[in-house]
Amino acid sequence: MIIVCEAKATEAQINAVQQKIREAGLDVHRSDGVEHTIIGVVGDRNRLDIAAVSMMPGIRDVVMVSTPYKLASREFHPEDSIVRVGEISLVGGREVTVMAGPCAVENEEQIEASAEMVASAGAQLLRGGAFKPRSSPYSYQGLGIEGLKLLRKAADKRGLSVVTEVMSIEQIDAVAQYADLLQVGARNMQNYPLLTALGQVNKPILLKRGMSATIQEWLMSAEYILTEGNPDVILCERGIRTFENATRNTLDISAVPVIKHLSHLPIIVDPSHGVGTRRFVAPMARAAVAAGADGIMVEIHPNPDKALSDGPQSLTFEEFGLLMNRCRIIATTIGRRLGKAK
Ligand code: PEP
Ligand code: MN
Repeated sequence: MIIVCEAKATEAQINAVQQKIREAGLDVHRSDGVEHTIIGVVGDRNRLDIAAVSMMPGIRDVVMVSTPYKLASREFHPEDSIVRVGEISLVGGREVTVMAGPCAVENEEQIEASAEMVASAGAQLLRGGAFKPRSSPYSYQGLGIEGLKLLRKAADKRGLSVVTEVMSIEQIDAVAQYADLLQVGARNMQNYPLLTALGQVNKPILLKRGMSATIQEWLMSAEYILTEGNPDVILCERGIRTFENATRNTLDISAVPVIKHLSHLPIIVDPSHGVGTRRFVAPMARAAVAAGADGIMVEIHPNPDKALSDGPQSLTFEEFGLLMNRCRIIATTIGRRLGKAK
């Protein structure tokens, strides 16, 4: 249920409503919009005298939210949410944010070279896994804390922010110490204890779509983070499993407009894991920007043939530079700006 306040509702009137809801044992989530303040009410609504609340001064409307996700819904927050990442990036506004880097941090030379390319191409965030969720226990698992340090150092030298994956509750403190944006991987989208713990962190979260998750299940996962008090969630479409096996996954570009319709949260697209093959990455990145994505996340590597993970889908630096130029043109065409302001 959401309560829409009058445009001229006073702070005292809003507080009185919030107090009444809390007295009934329900949770209050407040969202101050451009025109109206909206109060999200979460919990068993039978405990609340709805008729009485709707008669309180300063209240315009009481609306039942039809979707099971409440705080992630467009009804709760009619304007697009803009999530601040690090010092420089605002994800979800006019900017189209670019996050790029290797699948995994392998060594200092590799991440330094990647960061140099990411910065010179005008992207905002350096990516790179330090804790890797590999499908095989025999594959490269990442450098751990050492990887986080290398990532931070390479990014700081060039004014980039850092996004990297956190795989477990035990890793949260370390990852939050070094990263600006904490990534939840596709395999962990339904790790509810992890999501709940991330809801208590003071850093934005990049929530990747599970490979077999519906859009509703994905938004319910976002709800786990939001309801704990962390409002800064960015969604990432990275392909889903279908019967098609010509590509690693089937990149669901339609998720972009669908999410924009259902939710206020920013959404970015990861074409690399979406297709799994280098030659298909750039066209899908362009499609994502054209469809209205708030950002893209792309895997690049100084020498993809030697990459310890996801080499076949990693772009060379040259390919990435070309992708940036083309995506920049598309962004401008639709009234947005891709990458860092020059
Ligand atoms: C990644 O971005 O490094 C990754 C492992 O992606 P996903 O969780 O989408 O497979
Ligand atoms: Mn990867």
